[in-house]
Amino acid sequence: MVPNWITQRAMMSPHRTALRFEGEAWTYEQLNEISQHYARKLATLGIERGSRIAIYAPSTPSIIHMMLACMQLQCEMVLLNLRLSPYELAYQIDDANVDAILTDDTLCEKLPETTVTVYRFSAIESTAETSLQMDDTWDEQATMTIMYTSGTTGFPKGVRQTVGNHVAVATASLYNTGLRDDDAWLCTMPLFHISGFSMLVKCLVQGVRLDLYQKFDEAVVATELINGTVTHMSAVAVTLERLLTELEARDAVVSPKFQMILAGGGPVPESYLLRGFERGIQTAQTYGMTETSSQVATLSSKDALRKIGSAGQPLFFNHLRIDGAQKPGDVGEICVKSAQVTPGYIGHFAEHQSTTEGWLHTGDVGYLDDEGYLYVVDRRSDLIISGGENIYPAEIENVLAAHPAIKEVGVCGLDSDEWGQVPAAFIVAKNEAQCAELEAYCNERLAHYKVPKSFHIVKQLPRNGSNKLMRRYLKDLL
Ligand code: ATP
Ligand code: MG
Repeated sequence: MVPNWITQRAMMSPHRTALRFEGEAWTYEQLNEISQHYARKLATLGIERGSRIAIYAPSTPSIIHMMLACMQLQCEMVLLNLRLSPYELAYQIDDANVDAILTDDTLCEKLPETTVTVYRFSAIESTAETSLQMDDTWDEQATMTIMYTSGTTGFPKGVRQTVGNHVAVATASLYNTGLRDDDAWLCTMPLFHISGFSMLVKCLVQGVRLDLYQKFDEAVVATELINGTVTHMSAVAVTLERLLTELEARDAVVSPKFQMILAGGGPVPESYLLRGFERGIQTAQTYGMTETSSQVATLSSKDALRKIGSAGQPLFFNHLRIDGAQKPGDVGEICVKSAQVTPGYIGHFAEHQSTTEGWLHTGDVGYLDDEGYLYVVDRRSDLIISGGENIYPAEIENVLAAHPAIKEVGVCGLDSDEWGQVPAAFIVAKNEAQCAELEAYCNERLAHYKVPKSFHIVKQLPRNGSNKLMRRYLKDLL
């Protein structure tokens, strides 16, 4: 059993600001009251402990109020990604076999036709309250959230994340990031994704303010960082790049009050970390996934330069091992064991064993150095084998991303009669990029067999609902 975070936080720090959004603010006491108020309304609609409820809404205070109400009721929340196509939405709603869907009024039209009852936020608002006492404790093993993986390597899988998983993340991150009185997180990451949701939980459990934004706007974020109104934020490579470009254009550095950017969700090119330093930004590279309910390894700022390219040491309470590795530096599949690891999948993948003897096999390839720092090499499924040599696309992408003419790059293998496969680069250019020039650039920095055999300038790269590069669709751009 763990204490009800919402009521306990409200009791411990009632008047501290919990949430800010577009000039409005809520204290922990207010959030607790609002969550109970909505929990009683949802109860009138028949939603109760263990109900499986899909939530489909943008990052505004309303979704937080609904999520907290669902936590109060101990429902299972299926968090739907706003970028999904109607077809993908229909699949997830069906796969999760939800009892009801809660949606923001503005998005109602976007939902696919369904037999499941849909409640608009405005309808919930006008529902009468059932008298109901909130539980003081929650079951650690109970599923709190179900999130679908990004579907980068295959079909999205519905991952269970328990109350205990989320507590484990909030605890582990505390040992990693520490806690200061004036901490405040800027959240532009979607709340339906583990990156945003874990930030919400962390702030709630730790009593830290969350400044919520509906979307990432580099001009707004740069101003907040320069003014020092927040101390932390999370970013992925694409948003980090946009922020850096904005700060460079303004020739600005961030406030010394700003502590760091947690960067994860995928590899972050080293050149971005170095550009960050120039702007006074410490970037902590992290590694994690939906199945581990957030980060499991993070490179602390003190090691940032010494271990550049590493995702850091495992967070406290997490164990990492490399499958089949005999010694430091041996490359193999990264496996994770900790209280953060999901108990399993739902729906189509319910039978899919998520762990073996407690170890989650991540599908990612990497190694641990002699000090136990993790280096994520790439996804196992994206490996290119060329003339018997293993080539990981991420290494080539990392080199090309540092080229001044390149905005984004993706690398995949193309069939070759001679070599089996050869690497090819797909590039979104910032300005005029000459393929011969790019080839020469790679020749200086990469072994010959890793240099892409072709360079393709394209308008955009195939990305999924989490904005992740889907390398398996690069070929289709030809
Ligand atoms: P699917 O499992 O459906 O293919 P996905 O793995 O992209 O989708 P997520 O759970 O959102 O879904 O992403 C986790 C993955 O992101 C990790 O398994 C890893 O491949 C990648 N990743 C996360 N952090 C890093 C990092 N620091 N470096 C490299 N890759 C990372
Ligand atoms: Mg995955």
